[in-house]
Amino acid sequence: MNVLIVFAHPEPRSLSAALRDVAVAELTAAGHAVQVSDLYAMRFKAEVDRDDFPQLAPEGRLKVPGASKAGFAARGLTADVVAEQDKLLWADVLILQFPLWWFTMPAILKGWVDRVFAYGFAYGVGEHSEARWGDRYGEGVFAGRRAMVITTTGGWQEHYSPRGVNGPIDDLLFPINHGILFYPGYDVLPAYVVHRADRLDAAGFDAAAAGLRERMRTIATTPPIRFRRQNGGDYLIPTCELRPEIGMAGAHGFALHVSDVASDDGLTRPAA
Ligand code: FAD
Repeated sequence: MNVLIVFAHPEPRSLSAALRDVAVAELTAAGHAVQVSDLYAMRFKAEVDRDDFPQLAPEGRLKVPGASKAGFAARGLTADVVAEQDKLLWADVLILQFPLWWFTMPAILKGWVDRVFAYGFAYGVGEHSEARWGDRYGEGVFAGRRAMVITTTGGWQEHYSPRGVNGPIDDLLFPINHGILFYPGYDVLPAYVVHRADRLDAAGFDAAAAGLRERMRTIATTPPIRFRRQNGGDYLIPTCELRPEIGMAGAHGFALHVSDVASDDGLTRPAA
């Protein structure tokens, strides 16, 4: 398979970089082709602004979704964005790797998403009508491909447990796993998280690396998170609310959007 790792850490000697190298080595040894977008090393432009839309008339008001749509349709987006889109189309698997900063990804990676996931490419695709609300949440340009997060946290695993003060890690990663990766169609694998990373000693690194190697070895077969497909029958269209009868009694919040019935999701596809 082709694997793209989009990596966001400013220090080449960081723990994150060492874990990235472990992942690349394991994937390569297994015969996968790997590309890495090292965003800090590339000095990737993080903010969306007027310079992203060279075709926009100087006097025109910048409306980002419209400019993104027109630029993508006319193949007029900037070369750095087009290069990343081409890598995404090449990749069977996308890995986003980053240290958890303020409970989410570093700004440079968010900027990569903002700029690269263009209108007409990763969002705003498919029919929008009373009967259908686009090709998204399980459908879209990346349907049939896999994606996952690799992240490190300063906090303890317990701090991110269901009753931990930081909130459950699955909830914190929901906007990434569901809102960024599942939205344009990826089958999203559970994240690989290394906790207490700031104080990791050699034994801790060995354990973290061993776990990561195992996840890389099984990247084609690990079952994805059973997010409910928007157009799979569980949601009313066009309100996109879950049907009242769906979801386990007492379930609420993000957990409602993960199927509680192992057989009804249609997402657990055979390995690519
Ligand atoms: P590094 O700082 O590079 O290394 C961490 C430790 O790993 C060092 O002690 C290093 O010696 C050791 N190490 C062991 N083996 C190796 C090896 N082979 N190579 C390199 N180093 C090794 N944490 C949270 O939990 N929640 C937050 O919301 C949060 N927000 C943050 C916001 C900001 C702006 C910052 C700067 C940090 C935040 N943190 C938070 C902490 C952050 O998640 C950790 O600092 C980060 O995950 C550690 O990963 P790193 O790659 O930067 O580690």
